[in-house]
Amino acid sequence: MATEQAAITRATFDEVILPIYAPAEFIPVKGRGSRVWDQQGKEYVDFAGGIAVTALGHCHPALVEALKTQGETLWHTSNVFTNEPALRLARKLIAATFAERVLFMNSGTEANETAFKLARYYASTRHSPYKTKIIAFHNAFHGRSLFTVSVGGQPKYSDGFGPKPADIIHVPFNDLHAVKAVMDDHTCAIVVEPIQGEGGVTAATPEFLQGLRDLCDEYKALLVFDEVQCGMGRIGELFAYMHYGVTPDILTSAKALGGGFPVSVMLTTQDIASAFHVGTHGSTYGGNPLACAVAGAAFDIINTSEVLNGVMAKRQQFIRHLQQIDQQFDLFSDIRGMGLLIGAELKPHYQGRAREFLYAAAQAGVMVLNAGPDVMRFAPALIVEEADIDEGMKRFANAVAKVIKG
Ligand SMILES: *Cc1c(COP(=O)(O)O)cnc(C)c1O
Repeated sequence: MATEQAAITRATFDEVILPIYAPAEFIPVKGRGSRVWDQQGKEYVDFAGGIAVTALGHCHPALVEALKTQGETLWHTSNVFTNEPALRLARKLIAATFAERVLFMNSGTEANETAFKLARYYASTRHSPYKTKIIAFHNAFHGRSLFTVSVGGQPKYSDGFGPKPADIIHVPFNDLHAVKAVMDDHTCAIVVEPIQGEGGVTAATPEFLQGLRDLCDEYKALLVFDEVQCGMGRIGELFAYMHYGVTPDILTSAKALGGGFPVSVMLTTQDIASAFHVGTHGSTYGGNPLACAVAGAAFDIINTSEVLNGVMAKRQQFIRHLQQIDQQFDLFSDIRGMGLLIGAELKPHYQGRAREFLYAAAQAGVMVLNAGPDVMRFAPALIVEEADIDEGMKRFANAVAKVIKG
């Protein structure tokens, strides 16, 4: 009884949750569109989007409606039985992309785990049991399971968890010569984020992705695009591969897919999909009706020219504000990214302090992200309103002023 009634505060976090996060001091309790309110009723402009997840803002009426309707209809079946929302969403994804087959999972990690397992399985069953090498990139982020942290290119996430899965090699991102130097017949897959998110908001060059495609074709390896962060409208196209005009063999999507409801998907071709058989892989929740109903509603809105075309104009507005802030405070050495995945790298003098700016921003009433210690990251709703951008950036500028004046 006493425990139930005791006030929930930020201090509660340290008492009950594993110490793997350092959440901000306030606790959000309500969100609408691109605004969020905390326990004290203080209001924030949300440029974090739950890390590129709430692509339609908070509590979008169409998503709320889909969740309510499905919530009163059917919650869960497991994959012993299929369900209508999953099959409908699968059809939509197939109609809109290169994919001929899809598999739903619950998180970006799981979609990538599935992709890497499929790439290995396809190579070992169709080609040779020795075709196991995975080529991936420095600073890449692919999730937190042991396989995905091992394919990820940030040792700080995988060190201490060994022995790690073997035969994974990392080379510098955007360096085609480095890939060529390690590519061979034993390679089963090249795994790449078209735009590295966690690693610092760095876009691949078109030549790089095309070069990877050519190498995969030459060596009968699969090209895997991790679009968990950059996909689902984030850059103003449904998926980044469409912008680059380079089609992968396997693509993973999550984050914005459910607009805040946990769901992920792996897209692939019929041929590659057919390497798997009944029982080869699975998930209890993957393709859950609640998740797929919400994702279906989100998809119908995101995959419209109205939303996708709006992304570029909103990006320009963000960039103008960031340039103004830079002129005033001499803060950024680079403003980059694509669409509404925006990175602003701090000048050497301020490097290592991205989190400090993030917390100051929250104090000033705007939620932003960092991507590593040196880059501020903005991943707002794709439908963030002009007035919210102006107001949020005003607050961000105030936060910057505070940090810089000490
Ligand atoms: C967030 C992210 C993941 C991991 O997704 P989770 O849902 O946190 O498991 C994988 N890849 C990329 C590119 C991501 O940004």
